[in-house]
Amino acid sequence: MGRKSFEDPPQAVVKDGVVEISGVLSSPHEVEENKTLKRRIYRRTITDFVFDEDYGEFFSGIAPPDPSELIFEGPLPQRHLRWAAYTDRDVEIGSYYVYWIGDEDSEKNGEVYGPMAVKVRDPEIYWTYKKTVERMEAIKAAYPGMAEMRQFGQSTRKRPLYGIVAGNPSKLLAFTGYVHAGESGTEILLPALERLLAVNRDLLSRAGIAMLPCVNADSREKFVTGHPSYIRVNPNHVDLNRNYPVFWDLPGYGYGLDTNAEWSVTYRGPYPASEDETQAVMNFIKTLKPRGVFSFHAMGSICADAFCVPSAAATDRAYCQKCLELYMPYSKGFREINSEADVRLPPNKPAQYLTEWIYQEFKIPAADLEFNGKDYEKYGYTKRDRTDRKTLDLFRERHYQGMVNALEVLAQQP
Ligand SMILES: [Zn+2]
Repeated sequence: MGRKSFEDPPQAVVKDGVVEISGVLSSPHEVEENKTLKRRIYRRTITDFVFDEDYGEFFSGIAPPDPSELIFEGPLPQRHLRWAAYTDRDVEIGSYYVYWIGDEDSEKNGEVYGPMAVKVRDPEIYWTYKKTVERMEAIKAAYPGMAEMRQFGQSTRKRPLYGIVAGNPSKLLAFTGYVHAGESGTEILLPALERLLAVNRDLLSRAGIAMLPCVNADSREKFVTGHPSYIRVNPNHVDLNRNYPVFWDLPGYGYGLDTNAEWSVTYRGPYPASEDETQAVMNFIKTLKPRGVFSFHAMGSICADAFCVPSAAATDRAYCQKCLELYMPYSKGFREINSEADVRLPPNKPAQYLTEWIYQEFKIPAADLEFNGKDYEKYGYTKRDRTDRKTLDLFRERHYQGMVNALEVLAQQP
């Protein structure tokens, strides 16, 4: 811009289903000048962005705004001291938008700032960190003595990573969510737990549930507040499911990437368990000593019942059997299961996965949950980030039934 009127680049962020375009005015005297500086905000609705195929570069070559796309003209409303913001309420859930901002001076030189791209996601399907913590606090308050909320660590940006533990602590099933930020977790897990607490108290006296539902909390927050494309890594650009102290020197080339390369979204990190989030998960598992671990994945907001088990499951028949004892009943929450052959149990390739670390350390059943092939045919649109409330409810129901079935089996184990 010919004349710099913001201290940092302005940004567009989604809050409670509306878009806020904001910036910090560049110097104290700008606060006075902003009262007269006429700014213009332009917006375009994007209809051809495809989640999981398109990423940030999609927006970089986009044509500049047309005068017909002007949605605001005037001094930018000053919210607090040097912070000024405009709220665009005329947006639709599920839509992608790009914004530009210019002012009289910059536009004389043909310059506008942007594009700033966002997706407006349904806040009932995509929960913020704040909503997640409030929901956990509500569970704790509603079921004193039955549900306990505990901090197991912190995120890269120092958000406390809370877990919730309910029921019999000697026979726990443990769940983790959002190891990868653009995948699944909280919105399925916490409602399922609430329902267990409301209607399965006897079962919970015999077996229990532990959840660390929002592991990659910082990147998840970026995602739910408007980042349009899929996010996998944490703020240090580390893949949190390649950071565990196991098979450390083994390279991995999945997805045509390289786990040893910093540029890769499967980057394992600078050293074993380097990431705060990884340490929180390890603390969660070591402290609670669960009988089985379910780690939610699958691109989009919903995962299903394909259990990606540790590589050793391919040869360790006894371990595989232990996994099946929990995963068969869990899968019955999703579909008709008549034999072991009906359960999807693909072994991973050895890598620095959570499941591999759990196998090495504890030999308890551990799986990354992904989409099941048959579900993908029917609900593949969720991988395109097009989950609706009805589909979310259906999968909450399936996971809840799976939990009830697996807890019943666990309750009967010695
Ligand atoms: Zn994943």
